[in-house]
Amino acid sequence: MKVTEYLANANGPIISLEILPPTKGKSIDSIYSHLDPLMEFKPAFINVTYHRAEQVYKKRADGNFERVEIRKRPGTVGICAAIMNKYKVEAIPHLICGGFSKEETENALIDLHFLGVQNVLALRGDAAANEKFFTPHPSGHRYAEDLVKQVEGLNKGHYLEEDIMDGVKTDFCVGIAGYPEKHFEAPNIDTDIYYLKRKIDLGADYVTTQMFFNNAHYYNYVAKCQEHNVNVPIIPGLKPLTNKRQLTMIPSIFNVELPVDLCNEMMNAKTPEACDRVGEEWLLEQCKDLLKNNAPVLHFYTLGKPQVIYNVLKRLF
Ligand code: FAD
Repeated sequence: MKVTEYLANANGPIISLEILPPTKGKSIDSIYSHLDPLMEFKPAFINVTYHRAEQVYKKRADGNFERVEIRKRPGTVGICAAIMNKYKVEAIPHLICGGFSKEETENALIDLHFLGVQNVLALRGDAAANEKFFTPHPSGHRYAEDLVKQVEGLNKGHYLEEDIMDGVKTDFCVGIAGYPEKHFEAPNIDTDIYYLKRKIDLGADYVTTQMFFNNAHYYNYVAKCQEHNVNVPIIPGLKPLTNKRQLTMIPSIFNVELPVDLCNEMMNAKTPEACDRVGEEWLLEQCKDLLKNNAPVLHFYTLGKPQVIYNVLKRLF
């Protein structure tokens, strides 16, 4: 089922989860043991992230270095199929522009369509590890809006090879990313929402947000989006903070602010268990408040400590 259909027919709180594919060489069982306990809460969707390949230098036997491309977390499409098969739940693959040609993207969309995947999250991706700024693949997309355009084109039966007549029309529901504290490259929130709106005008159906730790950011963002005539569902992204290292890591990786009270509580926590408890209580309060304010879905970034998310859901429902 498409995310939009699910939301239109829902008569209670909806849960969704995001997982990362395991690092290359690890078994898919690591995904199952991560997800198994959380399935008790009947998530409507499980998002699976996509990771671009990285260029690394490997020393050869002759002492010279060779540049090789490695993808540390392959398997997004296969994991989506495995999740749908095992749990009978919709899987949402993330699609990224970074590192992909338009043709590779089209082929991935054809695979997904054949597998019965009905939802995708269309993203640009970040700059490669060795780049300061995002550089598109020579025959790929520069912005997520170009990817949205490609998916919507395929939904109308438009393939890259123009001589394909009467091509099968796919029927993907398209999600996009939103940033309550603005995307770090955007000069201001209004410009960022202007580009968000362009993606919606091109056919994107809903927005999933970057994580935030202060619900005011989400409410302000939803209000600002409405001012810009963005009228699609905006799904809040949530992550528990579970250790002191994240106090510096999360702001620098995700460009989000951590509230003073949360930082103080985490700094005062004396043991790893106490840190988990701080994260659990904070996330629980965020969730209660979002539910009270009719957030369409609670979307959890589960990387790290799924047990904390489990505890929050157990206390909520
Ligand atoms: P875009 O919409 O292309 O926006 C990028 C920047 O360009 C913004 O500042 C925007 O304001 C600006 N902009 C947009 N369009 C234009 C235009 N036409 N002209 C000029 N400026 C423009 N990354 C991964 O690699 N894999 C994942 O699986 C993944 N999943 C994610 C899931 C969620 C929910 C979120 C919030 C992020 C995820 N990311 C993932 C990270 C994301 O790819 C990065 O944040 C990336 O830097 C921006 O992606 P975007 O789709 O928002 O890009």
